[in-house]
Amino acid sequence: MTSKSITLADCREMDARDPLARLREQFELPEGVIYLDGNSLGAMPKASLKRAQDVISQEWGVGLIRSWNTAGWFDLPRRLGDKLARLVGAKAGEVVVTDTTSTNLFKVMAAALRLQKEESPERRVIVSERNNFPTDLYITQGLIDMLKSLGNADYEVRLIDGPAELDAALGDDVAVLLLTHVNYQTGFMYDIGDVTARAHEAGAVTVWDLCHSAGAVPVDLNGGNADYAVGCTYKYLNGGPGAPAFLWVNQRLQESFWQPLSGWWGHARPFAMETEYDPHAGVRRYLCGTQAIASLAMVESGLDTFEQTDMQQLREKSLALTSLFMDLVAQECAGFPLKLNTPVDTKYRGSQVGYEHPGGFAVVQALIERGVIPDYREPRIMRFGFTPLYIRFEDVWNSVVVLKEILQTGSWDQPKFHQRSAVT
Ligand SMILES: *Cc1c(COP(=O)(O)O)cnc(C)c1O
Repeated sequence: MTSKSITLADCREMDARDPLARLREQFELPEGVIYLDGNSLGAMPKASLKRAQDVISQEWGVGLIRSWNTAGWFDLPRRLGDKLARLVGAKAGEVVVTDTTSTNLFKVMAAALRLQKEESPERRVIVSERNNFPTDLYITQGLIDMLKSLGNADYEVRLIDGPAELDAALGDDVAVLLLTHVNYQTGFMYDIGDVTARAHEAGAVTVWDLCHSAGAVPVDLNGGNADYAVGCTYKYLNGGPGAPAFLWVNQRLQESFWQPLSGWWGHARPFAMETEYDPHAGVRRYLCGTQAIASLAMVESGLDTFEQTDMQQLREKSLALTSLFMDLVAQECAGFPLKLNTPVDTKYRGSQVGYEHPGGFAVVQALIERGVIPDYREPRIMRFGFTPLYIRFEDVWNSVVVLKEILQTGSWDQPKFHQRSAVT
């Protein structure tokens, strides 16, 4: 923190010097809204509307069934995967965009366990984190339950409470280490290379969930010699609500990637309509069934924005934004019961900042009513996501001004702000 107070003029100065400032105009951002929830649902690239119109009215409306070939629909999961690859340190031909993160986790976890079982059948433990995103744990539980009820195989989950417990958990009984690279609650970021090396040393393979990393922080899957990864495209990649997720498998494991959702889209010759499943030799084997083309098409508009910059430049701005937010909250909101839950050390920080507040849920609702949109996560966590593609330093200033007012007046503590909807 600087000794001199930070002013609005300082923030405007940072915007004036920001090499990424020009990208903001490519997004549809409603007047009067400061959108700090790009970590949950990214904002809409203006190009998405045109792309959606084309895919519906032309490719579907006019092209009809011909569009599978003429509009490139059939190849879309792989082609988008190649575009996404460079954002996560992957090679062309290693990534597909398809299905949901949850579904892809199921495929990857099953394939990883299967391969481990061939090599070291005694390894029956999956290590993960207690505060991992719940779907990662639920999918793992579902898979374990299925293997137990149908295959009589006893797998178990070992949950750690934070990175300090990792090494002790990586015993010689561990098959898979399943971690989310950037934690959704705290924004803590693991070092993929370092953790993967420790897991490999212990004989485990790694599954990385990149939901809060892809498009948010630099990721180097191949540089870190990771094994498997999944992630979504509707957060920092701005692919649109419920847009298909991605799945990455290290090339050295691609041929042994044998997944249980062996639908016809993963077949070597889907239109030969053969009776027996025979997986495709390349990345198509990660697919299951017919793809959500309209949704996939919009993922491309999100990815195209990233072609105009690189992850290093985005990282610099992201850290400048999150640091500014932390400094301003410390400067303006000292004295309120706000507890920072995000690493101050930039080496371990993703692109979000979280604070616990006893009335966290209501404070977030009060912020939303004032046009500042973060989100709320149990327990008590107010989560502020900073998307360097479209957030300005001035936005950071203005959001802290509103937060301070809400805390100072106590306006958040009204019954209407305590009402819960289905989605927080
Ligand atoms: C958002 C998120 C998911 C979401 O999974 P879906 O299948 O898209 O609902 C999974 N894992 C993590 C870590 C997430 O942040």
